[in-house]
Amino acid sequence: MGEQRIEAALREATDTQNVNIGAGALTSVPDVFRESFGDSSAVVVADGNTFEVAGKEVRRRLERAGHTMIEPYVFPAEPPLYAEYGNVEKLRESLREHDAIPVAVGSGTINDIVKRSAHECERPYMCVATAASMDGYTAFGASIEKDGLKQTLSCPAPRAVVADLEVLEQAPKDMTASGYADLLGKVTSGADWLVADALEVEKIEPTGWSLVQDHLRGWTDSPAELRAGDQESTERLMEGLILSGLGMQSYQSSRTASGAEHQFSHLWEMEGLGHGEGHEGTSLSHGFKVGVGTVAIAALYELVLERDLGDLDIETLRDSWPTREAMERSVRAQHTSPDLERGAVEQTLAKYISAGELAQRLELLRDVWPGLREKVRLQLMPVEQIREMLYTAGCPTGPVEIGLRWNDFEATYLRARTIRKRYTVLDLAFETGIIEECVDELFAPGGFWGRAAASQAGVDGARLVGSFRSDVREKHDDR
Ligand SMILES: [Zn+2]
Repeated sequence: MGEQRIEAALREATDTQNVNIGAGALTSVPDVFRESFGDSSAVVVADGNTFEVAGKEVRRRLERAGHTMIEPYVFPAEPPLYAEYGNVEKLRESLREHDAIPVAVGSGTINDIVKRSAHECERPYMCVATAASMDGYTAFGASIEKDGLKQTLSCPAPRAVVADLEVLEQAPKDMTASGYADLLGKVTSGADWLVADALEVEKIEPTGWSLVQDHLRGWTDSPAELRAGDQESTERLMEGLILSGLGMQSYQSSRTASGAEHQFSHLWEMEGLGHGEGHEGTSLSHGFKVGVGTVAIAALYELVLERDLGDLDIETLRDSWPTREAMERSVRAQHTSPDLERGAVEQTLAKYISAGELAQRLELLRDVWPGLREKVRLQLMPVEQIREMLYTAGCPTGPVEIGLRWNDFEATYLRARTIRKRYTVLDLAFETGIIEECVDELFAPGGFWGRAAASQAGVDGARLVGSFRSDVREKHDDR
């Protein structure tokens, strides 16, 4: 059944022609390569780990099938490779010395680096996945840090992808758990698109929506089996990740698969959380940050949906709406790194609307709210359920587990909105003037995070949150 879904999705895809997921799929690499690139020569690109795990084997099989093989390009295993533009430049210079087709053997980072480097050499590429760790394999664009800002640099997806389930099962358990969290994040990202659609900010495009959302519940409903290494659950996870990527490919944007939960993750990533050191001896993954972001956003949604946004005092909101200049000042005050500050100003102003436009949007919201609230409720799951599913799959579910302090975590609710122009629930809550009261409620002693903090740190936890929060206030008021 999964195969048929992928075949159907490939008909919508612009770049990817071949996907093969299965036990023992590595044996298909030469056939898939020939079908996609004919007799071209090939070069394996991997890191020290993924070269051992599958790169050698891929090279051997391609060589045996008669392809001219260029000496592999292998990034060091340590320190863990980071998707930064410098690595793209290094690989690009090496690729320019020949005309071989790059075969990326690895997971997120290797794939992103090869994707962008190959594009800069105007060359297609192929990917052999080594972990079900994120949804970027078949996605349009590469998530790369450039000029201090994590951004999606445009570049086509791979022409072919092979994922051998036996290889995926051997991947570190945390990587599979990360992929699960990245996929479960589509629950909240879908809600964000529903909001943006209803407010006529960004219309839902049915193909991109369906590829990601139609089977989401089924792909994510067996976290315990997945954690135990069950092959069928791994296959369904990988199918979900590949189809999510194809959704982004067909829509040519990550909107289909990324909302406010990703803005949390991107902000933390840009501030260096989890580079190199971190969770259980590996660097803190994209998916783990997205997972915590997903819990955070699902918790926020519950409070937003409790309110009647069809009954707002639109005049008062319009009169207190910041001018463009005031908005810029407040964004600058929320960031300390110059690159991040510059990027955040650019992104926030790109979605800035005037007070008059705000009033119009809120009037529209008044009309659509009952229907929108119902749709969003159906899209979401209770936050407790999301937390439980992530926990069962082996993912972190709160800030402390990913090395974030409670006050930084709380501040993320206000700051994350500023780093991307994409319209999400963070914008909805900001524009309707409820973001601060919702955050207060979440972190109050009986609130979702207040309770989490208390159970984590005993009775002192709640008090700690309280004292951190007054620090945050002071810091923001000072500036
Ligand atoms: Zn993601």
